[in-house]
Amino acid sequence: MGFKTVYEDCDILVVGGGMGGCGAAFEARHWGRDMRIIVAEKANIDRSGAVAQGLYAINCYMGMRWGENQPEDHVRYARNDLMGMVREDLAYDMARHVDSAVHKFEEWGLPLMRNPETGRYQREGKWQIMIHGESYKPIVAEAARKSADKIYNRIMVTHLLKDENHPNRVGGAIGFNVRTGDLHVFKAKAVIVGAGGASHIFKPRSVGEGMGRTWYAPWSSASAYALPIMLGAKMTQMENRIVLCRFKDGYGPVGAYFLHLKAYTQNAYGEEYESKWYDHTKAMVGEYIDHHPTPTCLRNHAFLQEVAAGRGPIHMVTTEAFQDPHKETVGWENFLGMTVGQAVVWASQDIDPKYINPELTTSEPYVMGSHATCSGAWASGPEDLSPSEYYWGYNRMMTVEGLFGAGDALGGTAHAFSSGSFTEGRLAAKAAVKYIRDHAKDPAKVSDQQIEDLRKAIYKPMEHYQIYRNEIVAGTVSPHYLLPIHGLQRLEKIMDEYVGGITVNYMTNEPLLKFGLDKLKILQEDFESIGAEDLHQLQRAWELKHRITASECVTQHTLFRKETRWPGYYYRGDYLKLDDENWHVLTLSRRDPESGEWKMEKAPVYHIVD
Ligand SMILES: Cc1cc2nc3c(=O)[nH]c(=O)nc-3n(C[C@H](O)[C@H](O)[C@H](O)COP(=O)(O)OP(=O)(O)OC[C@H]3O[C@@H](n4cnc5c(N)ncnc54)[C@H](O)[C@@H]3O)c2cc1C
Repeated sequence: MGFKTVYEDCDILVVGGGMGGCGAAFEARHWGRDMRIIVAEKANIDRSGAVAQGLYAINCYMGMRWGENQPEDHVRYARNDLMGMVREDLAYDMARHVDSAVHKFEEWGLPLMRNPETGRYQREGKWQIMIHGESYKPIVAEAARKSADKIYNRIMVTHLLKDENHPNRVGGAIGFNVRTGDLHVFKAKAVIVGAGGASHIFKPRSVGEGMGRTWYAPWSSASAYALPIMLGAKMTQMENRIVLCRFKDGYGPVGAYFLHLKAYTQNAYGEEYESKWYDHTKAMVGEYIDHHPTPTCLRNHAFLQEVAAGRGPIHMVTTEAFQDPHKETVGWENFLGMTVGQAVVWASQDIDPKYINPELTTSEPYVMGSHATCSGAWASGPEDLSPSEYYWGYNRMMTVEGLFGAGDALGGTAHAFSSGSFTEGRLAAKAAVKYIRDHAKDPAKVSDQQIEDLRKAIYKPMEHYQIYRNEIVAGTVSPHYLLPIHGLQRLEKIMDEYVGGITVNYMTNEPLLKFGLDKLKILQEDFESIGAEDLHQLQRAWELKHRITASECVTQHTLFRKETRWPGYYYRGDYLKLDDENWHVLTLSRRDPESGEWKMEKAPVYHIVD
């Protein structure tokens, strides 16, 4: 198609320059002074990823130097919130290092608020500290820019390369520049994937003109999952999708409102409703409902039940807190630093939270590994903490050799958030440097044939479009191709209706999941007929491919786990109870890269903290 091919040989390739990727680039330079370190990012790292717009709080900070929290406390917290299911070794490892990452952010110029009385960082809640975070991402990106040999912005990575000498080892990555169209081939000795989570795999509440309005970043396209899956990496907890309780229509965050402003929720009749659902929830999940704090999914569950009982909508009571001018300022600034859209939505709907209690809603499900859920790749833990089933030589290395991950990409590591994802990037990079030194005499082989085959596949949607566009005179419907937006809407509908989205009130069961898998298979086949009008649509096409692949994985996992572990995130109608006897386990999947067949297994949950 007349595009150039640009080759890059490096030691470490970081795919995705978000929080995890920036942490990886920074730390890789520390340990690998002589190494060539490259970042390939599909946007521009200065304003990319989930932190692009800024944040108002760093949600994971121990405060160990002030004796506020210890890593053990954080493991207990994450485990409790995830109904028992986390990789405690990974969680502990992140927690013991996260404070130093936050101290770096401050050193680099991020304004952290201080409590005027104690001089400590201003707490929003037990784990959160408040920041003036509009420029959080550019500040972190600067550290990555100064550390890496080169940052390639605007590169959509479509595939990982395989080492032809070792079938289960990575050899680099390939993708294209979304502006010039050039093919970029990165041969690397180790690859660290930090490509974020997945929005838009389930149909969003906002459709049509509002389609881009999702809680998780609309550009988080599941690459962090699909890239390793396509190479045969094992995944874990992919059924553990997240549903957020947020301000309606703008998805504005509620954390500061609950924690700092001490706002609270009530039903349409001004009644407290959570306690009403105690017995009902206890019958489903047993003593987990008595845990403190109440797990996020169970609070969602009470919300959903109350609305289903006909007493919605649920409101956040802001009218009391907003009478205090300080709290009113915090309430607005909270949005202006990270979700400007919520303030705009309220303005457009004549909602002044000082006088009107705004509506809340539950979002469509997202797939991610760093917030209050822990989907992602199955990775080795650190040598000093991990039981043997969790350890295979290099911290944060997936089950494919030389392939590491950080942030949303990794499974089992809930509640890492921005600071924890950056920390995981650092941990992965340190281990990747060691991996490269240990394997210095055994370089990966990536043949010209492998690159040529992938080149053909990558540009096929554009060729397809160019050939068949001539068969129609107007409109977008063609007998020979479907456009990425068509494929995306079909995917969202399948996931929504069969795998537990908003339309079915998050409910699914075995027959539905099996139907869903059949339909996803057909969608995978139809992807071969996708047409891309230009480079922008080519990017959309590959994002779709990644989303479909991750969706298959989510569906397989949801089918495998025969219980309802997280009511409020999703329900298995055929197994409506939590079942600790059979399912106090982590779920693992592997897709065979040759046959496309999925294999599921259980892995033990080790509680290393009491
Ligand atoms: C609405 C919202 C609010 C949040 N609030 C808070 C908060 O208050 N406090 C807090 O600490 N955390 C918060 N978080 C969580 C935090 O943002 C994430 O935990 C963190 O950004 C995850 O880091 P990551 O590196 O995994 O992904 P990201 O930071 O999202 O980075 C992923 C990167 O990969 C790139 N990429 C994706 N696909 C490809 C591809 N195929 N090729 C190349 N590049 C690719 C993306 O462009 C992006 O730069 C919030 C998240 C969201 C969405």
